Amino acid sequence: MSDGFATRAIHAGQEFDPTTGAVVPPVYLTSTFVQDGVGGLRGGYEYGRSGNPTRNVLQDQLAALEGGIRALSFASGLAAEDAVLRAALRPGDHVVLGNDAYGGTHRLISRIFGAWGVELTTVDFTDADAVRAALSHANTRLVWVETPSNPLMKISDIAALAELAHEAGAIAVVDNTFASPALQRPISLGADLVVHSTTKYLGGHSDVIGGAVVIAPGQEELGEKIAFQQFAVGAVSGPLDAFLTTRGIKTLELRMRQHSANAQAVAEALVGNPAIERVYYPGLPTHPGHELATRQMSGFGGMLSVAVAGGAASARVFAESTRIFQLAESLGGVESLIGYPSEMTHASVKGTPLAVPENIVRLSVGVESVDDLVADVLQALARASA
Ligand SMILES: *Cc1c(COP(=O)(O)O)cnc(C)c1O
Repeated sequence: MSDGFATRAIHAGQEFDPTTGAVVPPVYLTSTFVQDGVGGLRGGYEYGRSGNPTRNVLQDQLAALEGGIRALSFASGLAAEDAVLRAALRPGDHVVLGNDAYGGTHRLISRIFGAWGVELTTVDFTDADAVRAALSHANTRLVWVETPSNPLMKISDIAALAELAHEAGAIAVVDNTFASPALQRPISLGADLVVHSTTKYLGGHSDVIGGAVVIAPGQEELGEKIAFQQFAVGAVSGPLDAFLTTRGIKTLELRMRQHSANAQAVAEALVGNPAIERVYYPGLPTHPGHELATRQMSGFGGMLSVAVAGGAASARVFAESTRIFQLAESLGGVESLIGYPSEMTHASVKGTPLAVPENIVRLSVGVESVDDLVADVLQALARASA
C-alpha cells in the first residue's frame, strides 16, 4: 500500500460493515461461530482463540504500519515476546540482549527460558567490539534490540545490528515500543521481527494491556510458527482489547508528534538545572545517540530520564512531588507519568547487569498543555533539592 502513515493507521483493515454501513467495524464479542454444516465456516472463523474479526482488524492495521507481511496480537507485550522466543529457540540456543532492555524481557529470557536451557548474554549495543564478542558464540539464534532503550534512552543502530545478527546466522528482533511505528520502522532497517507492548503508545490511553509481533517480508515460515504459538498456547488479545488498541492507533501519528514536542520542551527545561546531574533524551544534541536517532527515527518520542544530583533520596522526592505527572508504572498514554525505575519497572533486574542507578527518574511525557508539564517538573525538583 502506498498510502501515507496516518492514512494507513485510520484505514488499514478498517472496511466499513457491509451489512449496516457502520463506518467503524463492529466489535465481535463472541467466543464461537456457527457453521453452515460441519466444517462450513463463514469467512474462515471457527472459534475465538483461533480467530476473531476484531483481532484481525488490529493485526492488519499493525502489519500495515510496520511494513510487515502479517502481525499477530497477544494479551500482553510479554505474551508476544514469549511467542517469539518459543517459536525461534530450542534448548542450547543463545540470545544476545541489550544491557538496558526492559526488565521484564530480561526476566522472561533469563528466568523462564533459562530454565529450559536457553543461554543469555547482555551487551552494550553501542559497543561494536562487545557485540561482535557476544555474537561469536556458536549457537546465537536471536539478537534482541530495544531502541530507544529503557530507561536510559540509549540509541542502538538497528541496521548495523541486524547485519551483524544475520552474519552470525541469527535473527534480529526489535522491541519498537518506545518509538512506535510513527517514529521508527525497524523492518525497513533489516529487522526480521518487531515486537510491541501495545499497552504503551499504540493503545495510547492507559486503558488496555496488549502486545504484538510483526513479521518482516521473507520470514513467512517463522511467521507461521509464531501464529501457531498464538493459536496453540492461546495468549490472544480479546476482542474488546483489540478494539481499544485499534481505536488508539488511529491517532498515533498525531499523538507521537505532540509527545515528542512536549518531551523536548521538558528536557530542555531540565538541562542546566542544578538539581539535575544529567538529562537522557535523544532529542538533545548532547545525547550520545542524537545523530543516530536523527537518521533512524522521524521524531525523538515522549520518554526521557534524568539523573538527580541529590542521589536516591532526592530522586524519590522528585518522583513523589509532581502534581500532573502521576507516580505509576507504564508509559505511552496521553497522561503524563513519572516513575522510579530501580524500585518500580526495573525492580526485577536489581543485582543484574541491567540494574538501574538509584538516582534515575523516568518521565513519560503526555500530551497535556506543555507549560503545565514544565511548571510541574520544576516545582517538584525545587522540593527535591530543598
Ligand atoms: C511494557 C513493556 C514491555 C512489556 O509489555 P506488557 O504489555 O507490559 O506485557 C515490553 N517492552 C517494553 C519496552 C515495554 O515498555
